[in-house]
Amino acid sequence: MRILLDVDCLVQALKNRTDSAVLNLCRQKRCQGWVVSTSIPAILEEAGAQDAQSLLRELAVLTPTAHDIDLALGSGKPFTQTLAAHLVKACGLDAVVTLSPEKFSGLTALTPGQLQEKLDAPPGPVEEVRLLDITASYHQILNEVEKEMAETIRSGHFILGSKVSRMEERMADYCQTKYAVGVSSGTDALLIALMALGVGPGDEVITSPYTFFATAGSIIRAGAKPVFVDINDITFNIKPEHIERCITPNTKAIIPVHLYGQCADMDPILQLAREKGLAVIEDAAQAIGSEYKGRPAGSMGDMGCFSFFPAKNLGGFGDGGLVTTNSEELYNQLKIIRVHGSEPKYYHKVMGGNFRLDALQADVVSAKLNFLEGWTEKRRKNAQTYHQLFKDSALTPFVQLPPEAFPRHVYNQYVIRAGNRRDELRAFLNEKRIGCEIYYPVPLHLQDCFKSLGYRSGDFPESEKAARETLALPISHEVDWAQQEYVVAMIHRFFLGE
Ligand SMILES: *Cc1c(COP(=O)(O)O)cnc(C)c1O
Repeated sequence: MRILLDVDCLVQALKNRTDSAVLNLCRQKRCQGWVVSTSIPAILEEAGAQDAQSLLRELAVLTPTAHDIDLALGSGKPFTQTLAAHLVKACGLDAVVTLSPEKFSGLTALTPGQLQEKLDAPPGPVEEVRLLDITASYHQILNEVEKEMAETIRSGHFILGSKVSRMEERMADYCQTKYAVGVSSGTDALLIALMALGVGPGDEVITSPYTFFATAGSIIRAGAKPVFVDINDITFNIKPEHIERCITPNTKAIIPVHLYGQCADMDPILQLAREKGLAVIEDAAQAIGSEYKGRPAGSMGDMGCFSFFPAKNLGGFGDGGLVTTNSEELYNQLKIIRVHGSEPKYYHKVMGGNFRLDALQADVVSAKLNFLEGWTEKRRKNAQTYHQLFKDSALTPFVQLPPEAFPRHVYNQYVIRAGNRRDELRAFLNEKRIGCEIYYPVPLHLQDCFKSLGYRSGDFPESEKAARETLALPISHEVDWAQQEYVVAMIHRFFLGE
């Protein structure tokens, strides 16, 4: 539950420290506690600065905008309650907790006792499981994100600059690479990586047809030709054994995709690339924090490309991306191409573009990076829970579960195969208010815009089969055990009846 603590209840909690049920519930993370920053003077009247500080560490501080305040002032009703009620609605909180529920009309108002009762009661049946609820994490990150963003807004340095550099250093450290370059999106990370290698017209780049469009789209945008190689049916990643026969004198690079958060089988790919003098660009957009034989995603190839799209495991509040590399030469090239090839300023020796990252996105990424390991571990735990639940309910003959071929899988998606009943299952789950999605329904070699490449249906049977059979289930760190049990129970109902 997400609750806003009314000032009267905070003041009482501070006066009566041994008996502050609400604060204990927040501390134990049994609910998310929020407090409006305008209540802080009243809190200080009751408590010392130190007590107030330790209190605020347990809670997320909601700072109303001038517009929120204006609305409350103009309402003709008591300011504090109106503002609180407005914020509860605007921020999607579940209730306000107050000593005087009668002061609040038109929203759920609970006394601390009622809140305790509600949380102690056996949970009601699960009614909905969203594929992803980005706002569920705001409670954890908001104070840190707002600190970073306020610094940037006050400084006026909006593009690149020290905030982006600091995020790059931290990301390079996280990915165990020498360098990282923040860019405008994951798609642009792929494009700028190809440009830094000098890939262009006449060149070929080998990749998987079973991936997000951007992987191959970037190859075309660089002026080169994508050459597809089918996937391994277990990992959904490019099959190294099939790559060699597709190499021609024009081949310049291989882009293995670490799909769904699990690394491609990199050793044979890297070895082949070394033998043939090809570059390797890891499409690690879904795989931040993933590992292959102890090496982090993005640290194995010549470059690694990441995305900060909000639905990725480390998402910004908008578009953003990153390229990692251990090569000083590529690093310098990436930094020049990122700013229109300008080096020194207004002198252009190479062709570049606007691949710059906003400081505000770097702020969000930096703040969230502190939580990434915890979130990743929760995703991995959720994957284990699904495995157990599917096994316990005898569903494994009907659904194929995603194995962890190369630890560690970071489960940007948890993707099952549901054979030829996938579409039916998806409709059934949607009807039960369970979010699920197909990544991806059409393999890239069969996309209209790639017709001129000359591929036909049947060319990549494993990719085509995966596109027909796979379904992604809710796996994010906000999903709890009861929700997973509900998902598996509904899949059981679909295949086996009650
Ligand atoms: C998301 C994604 C991209 C593109 O990233 P954007 O930030 O959305 O441009 C590229 N490749 C893969 C595999 C992705 O999942």
